[in-house]
Amino acid sequence: MCNLISVVLPVYNESASLDEFFLRLKKTTSAEQSYIFEFIFVNDGSGDNSLAKLVNLKNQNANIKILDFTRNFGKEFALAAGLAEAKGEAVIMLDVDLQHPPEFIPQFLRKWEAGAEVVVGVRNKNKGENLVKNLGSNLFYKIMGAIGETKIAPHSTDFRLVNKVVLDCFNKFTEHERLNRGLIDWLGFRTDYIYFDAEERKSGKAGYSFFKLLHLAISSFVAHSLFPLKLAGYLGVLITFFSGIFGFFILIEKFILNDLLGYHFSGPAVLAVLIVFLVGLVLVSLGLMALYIGQIHSEVINRPLYVVRKKYD
Ligand code: UDP
Ligand code: MG
Repeated sequence: MCNLISVVLPVYNESASLDEFFLRLKKTTSAEQSYIFEFIFVNDGSGDNSLAKLVNLKNQNANIKILDFTRNFGKEFALAAGLAEAKGEAVIMLDVDLQHPPEFIPQFLRKWEAGAEVVVGVRNKNKGENLVKNLGSNLFYKIMGAIGETKIAPHSTDFRLVNKVVLDCFNKFTEHERLNRGLIDWLGFRTDYIYFDAEERKSGKAGYSFFKLLHLAISSFVAHSLFPLKLAGYLGVLITFFSGIFGFFILIEKFILNDLLGYHFSGPAVLAVLIVFLVGLVLVSLGLMALYIGQIHSEVINRPLYVVRKKYD
């Protein structure tokens, strides 16, 4: 058999690592005798001479394709573009900054041969990443685990293999705000894991600044959970409930029992409870609106209703 395997590679200002990366990629893939490979590089609006380097590589290797974006759209979209182009029986995606060592590709293929539909690379530890980024990513997985409807394995990366069925399903997603790995997890195919040590970035700097990552984290909460939207409503219910009970107690004690218990509730105290109660009501109404907005949200992102693995006729 001579199956085609696609490798999708997003590139943003990586001219310093491209040559070494491709050398290592070529070395491991050429050792895989039973497969042929296509390499799909997506140049995501690099400002350096990454494109020239890619064209140069392409001139020496017939199995390279290049998609050249007009400007920087971001890695999620670069990946999406490459995946839409992939023709292989399986697709492997990895970063070209050498943080996803290409030498692990054979392990991904073995898991796929053994029946996994998705193989996910999981980082053992983050060498060379700063404390803030590490704390941030831990916090992200904690919150996502608690409120997200998609279960995302902690420290799972974009270093992944998906088979053709998964790829076809993935290519049907139309949403714009996306975290590709969240979408792949959402599909729910049989997943296996490969653990690897992330190397330090060889050169250049990470395109994802703290704020870009924060934005990505927030937008994936929004995409995979309606909890933030409903939060106001939950708060409102709590506030209304407790201030209502307290207000009721004050009314009875002060006006019906004529301060029998001797609390001497002042006018301002009564007013304060009344205001808190009204704020609660406002939040409850916001929560009700959130229910409608939540429905609009899920209609608009237009996820597939279900995912079929295979049809047996
Ligand atoms: N990348 C991209 N577009 C961007 C930022 C990054 O295509 O806007 C590519 C980059 O060239 C690399 C991969 O995505 O191959 C991972 O980027 P980076 O190393 O900056 O991210 P991190 O390692 O911090 O997740
Ligand atoms: Mg990186």
